[in-house]
Amino acid sequence: MKAGFKLGNTLGRVHKGRDTFWMRGREVSSITREKLSIAHTGKRVSDLTKEKLRIINTGKKHSEETLEKMRASQQKVVLEGRRILPIVRMFGVENPQWKGGVTPANKIIRKSAKYDLWRMSVFIKDDRACVWCGSRKDIEADHIQPFALFPVLRFAIDNGRTLCHDCHRKTVTYGNKKHYV
Ligand SMILES: [Zn+2]
Repeated sequence: MKAGFKLGNTLGRVHKGRDTFWMRGREVSSITREKLSIAHTGKRVSDLTKEKLRIINTGKKHSEETLEKMRASQQKVVLEGRRILPIVRMFGVENPQWKGGVTPANKIIRKSAKYDLWRMSVFIKDDRACVWCGSRKDIEADHIQPFALFPVLRFAIDNGRTLCHDCHRKTVTYGNKKHYV
């Protein structure tokens, strides 16, 4: 839980605007609803929320008990089929209509935890060795179908292969040669 939210000016409905463009039309998350309810009633604060607020105010870490509660509520969200929005979704990256977007968005994906997980999975699949020369030095994960042109395959493990840096450079798509990333 990051101490990111403010109880001040963002309460109430999700307004249209620069800072909330990505939330338009989305269901207000359960945590937001809880915040709203606190703000509106001033009394119905759950123990969990109290703990969250305490953490925000003090910067102290969660107790094991709280962590357990938070895991449970996270689980509930998953079971109910609601999705927790990873930050990259703001940019429509997983939308099949997306055509590659602008460079900053690509950079954000490549720095994301999801991307890191993809990379590690590709390495494991290939036993952490270059699939061309067998080297285990300076390995990198390469997209067989280019990252920019096949958004839906960006996180497909089968679309990744492990190459050493030297072999990777020999691919036609290496290093954003104009159209590829
Ligand atoms: Zn190699």
